[in-house]
Amino acid sequence: MSSSGLCGICGRTGAGYTCDRCGTLVCERHYEASVGFCVECAREVGGGGQPSGDDQPDTGDTYQF
Ligand SMILES: [Zn+2]
Ligand SMILES: [Zn+2]
Repeated sequence: MSSSGLCGICGRTGAGYTCDRCGTLVCERHYEASVGFCVECAREVGGGGQPSGDDQPDTGDTYQF
């Protein structure tokens, strides 16, 4: 009867949203209603001007691990 789940991000009860990407149950604070994803997925797929490839600029100085 009580349909309150645990948020997969903060672990609090009252999670009433399900991420449409990873299926994680999240609370209202960790649900991006604009995309229908949790904030984790929204951060990954949402982007917003993220350059493709590594986050390090190619300055010519190549590091070798
Ligand atoms: Zn949460
Ligand atoms: Zn997700």
